[in-house]
Amino acid sequence: MNFEEKKKRLVESLKNRDILSKPKVIQAMLTVPRHKFVPKDAESSAYMDTPLLIGAGQTISAPHMNAMMCEYLELKEGDKVLEIGTGSGYHAALCAELVAPKDSKNPGHVYTIERHLKLVKNAKKSLKESDYENIVTVIHGDGTLGYPEQAPFDKILVTAASPKKIPPPLQEQLKDGGILCIPAGSHSFGQNLYIIKKHGKDFDRTRITGVRFVPLIGKYGFET
Ligand code: SAH
Repeated sequence: MNFEEKKKRLVESLKNRDILSKPKVIQAMLTVPRHKFVPKDAESSAYMDTPLLIGAGQTISAPHMNAMMCEYLELKEGDKVLEIGTGSGYHAALCAELVAPKDSKNPGHVYTIERHLKLVKNAKKSLKESDYENIVTVIHGDGTLGYPEQAPFDKILVTAASPKKIPPPLQEQLKDGGILCIPAGSHSFGQNLYIIKKHGKDFDRTRITGVRFVPLIGKYGFET
């Protein structure tokens, strides 16, 4: 089976499991070539619903987690998005498809921050090869500080597990009416995925499900 067929099968199974339902998210999952974002020796597993090692002890999340986060973020054309934890760059590419679809008259932008330089370099390469380099800006640094240079953001997603106290800069850098999607809890076990909506000075927090992510490491994250 070729990559296209495997990708279609993966998307069908996510739809059957009621993880994917929004047509635009489905289209984005069918478009972004996940096999171009994983190491060569993992290419044949790229369309299995499982996390994969990407170097520096880090992982690309399982596709159902990417899909779920994209659905809950309600990403739309024109959104300015901040992602903390670029990893492979795959999730940033999915966001790019949703905020700046082909021939968009009102293209949005994705800013994504990664603390491992090796992953920054690999992600930039994969994003360039898949034609997302103009929509996604990859930054090397500590994402718990957010990205004040481009704040405020319509949507913020964090793809590493934060301590229970959500990094204050991320809450501050979210637009009024904006949505933050973040796993939080303990360093390795006992984490939950939350959707946080900002209304003026108030934050509405909804727990989605239990999850397991690599830790968010930085000034407002875990120490190591
Ligand atoms: N979204 C990624 C998943 C990456 S896993 C993908 O699609 O592949 C989480 C990533 O968060 C790891 O690469 C890890 O190095 C990074 N990370 C952890 N703490 C960070 C921080 N404070 N700032 C930026 N990146 C961080």
